[in-house]
Amino acid sequence: MVVGDLSNVLPDALELAFFYFQKQGLGILDENTELEIIREAAKAQCQTCLFDFIPDYRLAMCPKCGLPNGLLISGETFRVQSYEGCDER
Ligand SMILES: [Zn+2]
Repeated sequence: MVVGDLSNVLPDALELAFFYFQKQGLGILDENTELEIIREAAKAQCQTCLFDFIPDYRLAMCPKCGLPNGLLISGETFRVQSYEGCDER
């Protein structure tokens, strides 16, 4: 899974939910299933001076010119990067 720093997904909570489903033995995840979380750093670019920086929030304030003109380039991702497995039980 790719989890962006600004995606509102807490990796710890995601891991906890994963282990919970695994231990429940509902047949969704077996004991050999592994979860890999890839963190995606938040990055923004100022639309005024084109300076690249790491934003603290979704409304990104440019540290160079001080204008709230930062456009998020990355950090909001929450998706499955790859999946390995089979349907046979
Ligand atoms: Zn700027």
